[in-house]
Amino acid sequence: MVLTKTVLNAAPSPAYICPTARTCSYLGQAAVDLQMDPNILRMLEQPRKVITVSIPVQLDNGEVQVLAGHRVQHCDVLGPYKGGIRYHPGVTLEEVSSLAMLMTWKCALLGIPYGGAKGGIAIDPAQYSVRELERITRRYTSELIKDIGPAIDIPAPDVGTSEREMAWMMDTYSMNKGYAVPGVVTGKPLSIGGSKGRKLATGRGVMIVVREALAERGQSFKDVTVAIQGFGKVGNATAYLMYEEGAKILAVSDVSGGLFDSNGLDIPALMDYAARNRGSLAGFMGAQRISNEELLTLPCDVLVPAALEDQITEDNCDRIQAKIVAEAANGPVTLVADQMLHHRGVMVLPDILANAGGVVVSYLEWVQGQSYVFWDEDRVNREMEGLMVKAYQRVSENARKMSVPMRRAAYMLGVGRVAEALSDRGLYP
Ligand code: GLU
Repeated sequence: MVLTKTVLNAAPSPAYICPTARTCSYLGQAAVDLQMDPNILRMLEQPRKVITVSIPVQLDNGEVQVLAGHRVQHCDVLGPYKGGIRYHPGVTLEEVSSLAMLMTWKCALLGIPYGGAKGGIAIDPAQYSVRELERITRRYTSELIKDIGPAIDIPAPDVGTSEREMAWMMDTYSMNKGYAVPGVVTGKPLSIGGSKGRKLATGRGVMIVVREALAERGQSFKDVTVAIQGFGKVGNATAYLMYEEGAKILAVSDVSGGLFDSNGLDIPALMDYAARNRGSLAGFMGAQRISNEELLTLPCDVLVPAALEDQITEDNCDRIQAKIVAEAANGPVTLVADQMLHHRGVMVLPDILANAGGVVVSYLEWVQGQSYVFWDEDRVNREMEGLMVKAYQRVSENARKMSVPMRRAAYMLGVGRVAEALSDRGLYP
């Protein structure tokens, strides 16, 4: 049977947990583009395992709160499940499920031997003390003890988590096993087998793909202006690395709002300020204050949404003035906005390509750990850059060949690789 949109619409699989409409729609489009066997599509639509655990945690005041912790394992046809752990009030099972699916395509597109997973707890980490966060993380890990492991599922940091949480996860897992298992997580501190270069990795990957896109237009960072939404781990590193390459960073923002300077912001000064101000830009006096919404619609060449999902929507995408939008966050552009931007000639560098630097260096961390040989930062950056540039070139070539936007081209490559592996492995039993 030839797969068409009509077939897709007529025969939805009974879903036990559905990723969001957008994620399914991108997969559906890839299935049509690849003329995929509908049986394969049916298997890829649903996550393989959905786990929700109850996390009772004693707060510092003695009260016990019970949280829900999720881990969704989408597909492990290419290797162990891989993906971050998110602590954010907006976490839902549906969101985690979508993000797990994105990880599958991201790893496949980059050619790294992992499947996709994601985890999350719907909390605002700022509302908990460090000791409470430690108890939450350790209990969550211990509830997942049978479902994670270096050959099973390897968590990493995501929004609201960092190397600190990874160290707690590694320790909890290891104490339960009775011996040290550094390979159970990536994004660990250097002292327990983390990789040099991991902290800036996602931002470095964003910088590299934007650099490649500019080069195809005969431009470099020295010729462009940039606006970056989000000044967390990813936005901060992206701003710094693009600034170092000579870009004029017109604006950055975080939850406290945006900062603008038509002559370009002094990014190192902002990073210093945020480091002294618990990561926040609130109260910085050296630039003009703008709103997050104003930042998105500024006249600039490159716009980098590096915060959360659904920031560029049908309501504001008409006002986006950038020529390149690089999705440093996962899913910052909605489905409709994505199509509208494409029709207006705006190039969207999709999340599964643009922010893959993080999981690529996670992979390099895992490789170093497995071989007990640790590399210097130059080597890590070089290996990562090689994989990112190769992926960019393959996506760009496919986009040109098929006359499709970059996202569709990227999905064809990522989904195609998984579909091929699934069909080669066959269906058990
Ligand atoms: N959370 C990051 C992502 O969304 C990194 C995942 C990882 O390193 O496993 O890509």
